[in-house]
Amino acid sequence: MDRVSDRRLLEMARKASLSAYSPYSGFSVGAALLSAGGSVFTGCNVENASFGLTICAERVALCKGIADGFREYETLALWAPHPVWPCGACLQCLAEFAPQLRIVRRGEKGDVEAICLKELLPAAFYLNHR
Ligand SMILES: [Zn+2]
Repeated sequence: MDRVSDRRLLEMARKASLSAYSPYSGFSVGAALLSAGGSVFTGCNVENASFGLTICAERVALCKGIADGFREYETLALWAPHPVWPCGACLQCLAEFAPQLRIVRRGEKGDVEAICLKELLPAAFYLNHR
């Protein structure tokens, strides 16, 4: 099976962002998470009037994958109105299952920018030494 390309993943993330529920921030985000086996799980941000209950697109995608029995991931694509990397909470959640995760986003000029989770969160919290 052909691996899903970064651009294809970004397109899936863009489509997922169209489902975002973001009436408070107006910042609609989409994520597409590629499993080690080639399955893709998408997510969008889901805001709440009680702001602290808002869930980011990345964690929605991760939870969908976990709920379907997938525990290993290779790449996360992130789509937002302007280029962003995942927040600290999402990085920590992603590190639980994919400490080697690649993360890609659409750059300002439409190019694909990539970084490793470990570069964004070099000292993730783990109960057991890794
Ligand atoms: Zn987040």
